[in-house]
Amino acid sequence: VDPSAQRPATADPAPLAELIAELAPQLGNRGLLTAPVDVEPYLVDHRRLYRGRTLLVAAPATTAEVQAVVQACAARGIPIVPHGGNTSYCGGATPTESGVEVVLATTRLRQVRAVDPANNSITVEAGCRLADVQDAAAANGRLFPLSLGSEGSCTIGGNLSTNAGGTAVLRYGMMRELVLGLEVVLPDGRVLDQLRGLRKDNTGYDVKQLFIGAEGTLGVITAACLKLFPAPAGHATAWVGLASAADAVTLLGVLQSALGDALTTYELVPTIALDLVLEHVPDTTAPLSSNHPMHALVEVTLSALDSDLPARLEQALGAAHERGLVGDAVVASSLAQREALWKLRETIPEAQTREGASLKHDVAVPTSDVPAFIDAGRAIVERSIPGARLVAYGHLGDGNLHFNVSPPKLGAGPGNARDFLAHGPALKRELHDLVAQFRGSFSAEHGIGRLKVGELERYEDPVALDVMRRIKRALDPQGLMNPGKVLDDGR
Ligand SMILES: Cc1cc2nc3c(=O)[nH]c(=O)nc-3n(C[C@H](O)[C@H](O)[C@H](O)COP(=O)(O)OP(=O)(O)OC[C@H]3O[C@@H](n4cnc5c(N)ncnc54)[C@H](O)[C@@H]3O)c2cc1C
Repeated sequence: VDPSAQRPATADPAPLAELIAELAPQLGNRGLLTAPVDVEPYLVDHRRLYRGRTLLVAAPATTAEVQAVVQACAARGIPIVPHGGNTSYCGGATPTESGVEVVLATTRLRQVRAVDPANNSITVEAGCRLADVQDAAAANGRLFPLSLGSEGSCTIGGNLSTNAGGTAVLRYGMMRELVLGLEVVLPDGRVLDQLRGLRKDNTGYDVKQLFIGAEGTLGVITAACLKLFPAPAGHATAWVGLASAADAVTLLGVLQSALGDALTTYELVPTIALDLVLEHVPDTTAPLSSNHPMHALVEVTLSALDSDLPARLEQALGAAHERGLVGDAVVASSLAQREALWKLRETIPEAQTREGASLKHDVAVPTSDVPAFIDAGRAIVERSIPGARLVAYGHLGDGNLHFNVSPPKLGAGPGNARDFLAHGPALKRELHDLVAQFRGSFSAEHGIGRLKVGELERYEDPVALDVMRRIKRALDPQGLMNPGKVLDDGR
């Protein structure tokens, strides 16, 4: 099947008029946006890499309305771009420049349908913001553990469709591991109803998993039943100074042995990242009085029975200090101090942006390989762009690094941002080749979207790619769901 053969060739106003006439009685004015001022926010992605065009933005408020939009579009061969909080790093929710697509916004699918504390589950609609789901869980004495920098604006549908990770993956897993059930409108308009709160269900293929991480290319997720956990009794948070990434990996193992799965966060912060934060972000101070090449932000989550965990964390760090593994460490003694330590980690992207242009790579290798990967990657960066500064930080507990590169300090290398950014494609190729040598991932958290379609073609196992194309064809034979994203369809 050549999907390009089935794609509508031109933006013809006739289908739009027909579509609006068919959908208006059900969706009303609030559900059908055509005025340029209303449509504009849906046309540009978060990183401003892409600007698309659209026939119409449909904002259905119920699953039945989503079904109506999908059916009406399928009947006319009109492609659909699902759109949540628009925080994708890869342009996944932005329409192409063709102008023939309908953006399906989930802004009005915002109901929390049910909270079941006894089953430790919550059923929410896809357009619910992540922060609202966390709040709804907390109001019922439970925790929904997914936590991201974008949680105030990203949606559950987007989190599911990108299989989002974040800062608590070490303990709770990625979004895929937090899902019990899904409701999805398929490309032909049928509703797949797997919206159940079961932890055990071995009845055939686990079909719902197909839609997690599919980035809107297989259907529109309308609701999900998510796992909840007991609300934590508190946290113990430490900032640790270390000699190297290798020591950080060793300490991770030591802390896992001492603290078990209470260890929730283990983030790597090299000195260069800390220095950028201290230079550019107001109200930040160095957490330790001594200097160290590497740092780790460590957090354990306390349950009601774990009141001695903070002491066990301090003991474990003290013992590691005595054997020379840890240079220095501080354990937060107040909520304000905990927040101050987190701020040092969470504002690294902002600090790097303020420092100037940067080349970003979202990679994963087995945690044990991270030190060797950083060394080999640094050598590539130094050879490719003399004077460039490697800022490799992130979720060490998951083997996931934001392998970012900042330009040389003024006068030490390629003069301006354009010269520096021109090195991006060649550097990306070498770094992603290195990732492949480590059997790692060139997109650990952020998915493929439009940005990384070529990388998937290049690095994915051909058999896996073939399976993906067969699944896509089976579910979406007209190629109408989020065309041009994830799989190369000739665009
Ligand atoms: C400041 C910041 C911090 C971030 N931190 C992290 C992080 O720590 N970990 C991480 O994994 N990611 C992170 N991200 C990126 C992350 O992928 C998104 O924040 C989030 O998961 C996307 O949700 P969204 O609602 O914004 O989706 P969108 O950007 O709107 O869409 C993302 C993709 O999902 C599809 N989609 C959206 N809704 C649906 C639906 N209902 N049905 C089918 N398809 C749908 C879209 O078509 C698109 O392909 C971060 C982003 C920002 C801006």
